[in-house]
Amino acid sequence: METNPYIAAKFVYKTYTCFSCNYKADVPGEIHKNYHGTYQAHVCLNCRILVDCCIEDASHITTLENEFEFTFTPCEPHCLNCDDSNLIEWNVEMCKCPKCENKMTITRLEHDGYNTSKIKII
Ligand SMILES: [Zn+2]
Ligand SMILES: [Zn+2]
Repeated sequence: METNPYIAAKFVYKTYTCFSCNYKADVPGEIHKNYHGTYQAHVCLNCRILVDCCIEDASHITTLENEFEFTFTPCEPHCLNCDDSNLIEWNVEMCKCPKCENKMTITRLEHDGYNTSKIKII
């Protein structure tokens, strides 16, 4: 199998909606990487909301060929709302509402066609 050191950093906008309690969250769901780091949806147990938390910080160097090479360093996820780390990973398959535990539904799915770029993982 061919190994490609590049990943496409294409941003996906998603909204998950809970039709039982009307809670809505704008999180991509699955793990995604961009120039700032790696992000994963978590449930904040304090706020009972979904947050897209940074789980790895990205740093980069510029190579002689003028390419960016990124290194990802694990970091502790923090809630974007209360800044605490009382979080659990959100299971995308289960898609459970953090407020009432009913199944959430994807109500928006957009790909950002302009923001497509490549990140080389080293
Ligand atoms: Zn919180
Ligand atoms: Zn709900």
